[in-house]
Amino acid sequence: MGKAILFSAPSGCGKTTIIKELMKDDALGVDTLAFSISATSRAPRGEEQDGKDYYFLSHEEFKARVERDEFLEWEEVYSGTCYGTLKSEIQRIWDAGKVIVFDVDVNGGRNIKKYFGADALSIFVMPPSVEVLEQRLRSRGTDSEEAIVKRLARSAEELKQAPAFDVTIVNDDLQHAVQETRNVIEKFIHE
Ligand code: ADP
Ligand code: 5GP
Repeated sequence: MGKAILFSAPSGCGKTTIIKELMKDDALGVDTLAFSISATSRAPRGEEQDGKDYYFLSHEEFKARVERDEFLEWEEVYSGTCYGTLKSEIQRIWDAGKVIVFDVDVNGGRNIKKYFGADALSIFVMPPSVEVLEQRLRSRGTDSEEAIVKRLARSAEELKQAPAFDVTIVNDDLQHAVQETRNVIEKFIHE
């Protein structure tokens, strides 16, 4: 069994941005880490590409894969929209000798941490405030008003779960948050 790092937070807190910054890093980037590409039943957003950001599946295909027991975990994160981690992703990344990086919702994060135990570092990304979170979701410019309202409604409950994670990173200044994240990951990988 290899190691895993998981990022959880309400949508808009900056998980994707922090992960992309980490992957660019020479010392700790793509040679060490590999992103676990989740499957989702939602449509691609903005510049997202199939097989890079997500495996975009129809609802029927997603359910068929659930029936075939192909997921390590999956959640209906928003009503009618499912996300899940395929078991084949874990194997692909460990076969390549890399550390898995997960970007999952808060429930998924807790389930994955339970599954991997001490082999996983669980990181909660905290927004500086709920007001800033709302501003960031809006300025991302990728979600409909309905999707933003759904995401904000879910965030209050999710933010309460931060203490269940190994580490909390406050994403105020991005470069500061990335540096703090890099430090905890390096310590975890080398311990
Ligand atoms: P998540 O993956 O958690 O849903 P994103 O990484 O998509 O969140 O970030 C949401 C929005 O906030 C994006 O538009 C991103 O550019 C912006 N953002 C992320 N981190 C910061 C930061 N530290 N300061 C300002 N804007 C940020
Ligand atoms: P988004 O639509 O913004 O890409 O993602 C919405 C939420 O789904 C985020 O909180 C994201 O972390 C979560 N998510 C993405 N992939 C998975 C997954 O494989 N499993 C779970 N449980 N959540 C996921």
